[in-house]
Amino acid sequence: MITTDVENYPGFAKGIEGPELMTEFRKQAERFGTEFLEEWITKVDLKDRPFTLYTENKIIKAETLIIASGASAKWLGVPGEAKTPNGFGGNGVSACATCDGPLPAFRNKRLVVVGGGDTAMEEATFLTRYASKVYVVHRRDKLRASKIMQEKAFRNEKIEFVWNADVQEILGTAEHGVTGVRLRNASDGEHFTLDCEGVFIAIGHRPNTDLFKGQIDMDTVGYVRTNGHSTATNIPGVFACGDVQDSVYRQAVTAAGTGCMSALDAERFLDHLPVEMPSGEEVTIEGEHITVDRELIITATGEVIPNEPVLE
Ligand code: NDP
Repeated sequence: MITTDVENYPGFAKGIEGPELMTEFRKQAERFGTEFLEEWITKVDLKDRPFTLYTENKIIKAETLIIASGASAKWLGVPGEAKTPNGFGGNGVSACATCDGPLPAFRNKRLVVVGGGDTAMEEATFLTRYASKVYVVHRRDKLRASKIMQEKAFRNEKIEFVWNADVQEILGTAEHGVTGVRLRNASDGEHFTLDCEGVFIAIGHRPNTDLFKGQIDMDTVGYVRTNGHSTATNIPGVFACGDVQDSVYRQAVTAAGTGCMSALDAERFLDHLPVEMPSGEEVTIEGEHITVDRELIITATGEVIPNEPVLE
């Protein structure tokens, strides 16, 4: 979690720090017997159940899998953007207006929002509740945002657009945080400085789904597709929750809500085994595979036996 202060999670009237909230989540899950493995998953195989997850030195077999790998905000990659002490990330630079906009550091200040899509329009509009002025800095002279979001931003007197401008650097000092952005006019190449006290990068998000590419149904951006009112994916037994399947709400509370849905979906799935896999095989809770023609059973140890009805 890159958010320091979480002000909008229910139950914490005075707000809570992101890492502390996560520690509480963990302790609560441990109380109910959850075992935690802190490993990077390097590869997955979702063709057959049990599913196989590979880490550097372990192979993990799973009857069901809940994907909750989240999404990462895209960054510009310019000087001054990195997290403190290498830049002003957390000291005036953010990628989440909903999380950080209400913080005292941004109140009545001049803020820059970078981007021209719906996220940028939404963040700029939201920030006008707190800021004295919001500049939307966009690299072209046309927005990508939907018409309705554009119009809302155009009508807002606190928002000013800076067109054809590429951010070259975020300026500031360790003591005061952000003091401005150095921009380059895309038409004539001229550099100029825009004074501000905060910068919100709103150039989109990237779901963390590279690991699952080619194995699970995703939209064109890479968000995992789930099935309407449930968190089921196209693979029976694989569920997805949180920002990895949600490009719209992206809040800690909505992620936690879909996490709860996934847990219930996975539990119900296990209660209703055997299930049919995309290959047409059936897999039982004991890990036995019943072949597509229903003629053979392959046990979890690899033994092949005929699928004959049990005679009373
Ligand atoms: P988009 O990809 O739609 O827009 C990203 C914006 O950032 C574009 O204007 C793009 O510029 C700009 N950009 C990208 N990379 C850079 C860069 N390196 N330097 C400078 N500018 C850059 O992402 P969004 O997050 O805005 O939206 C994603 C999806 O979520 C969309 O489908 C959107 O409709 C949806 N959404 C809906 C909302 C709502 O309805 N309330 C709210 C938020 C998102 P350029 O235009 O030149 O490519």
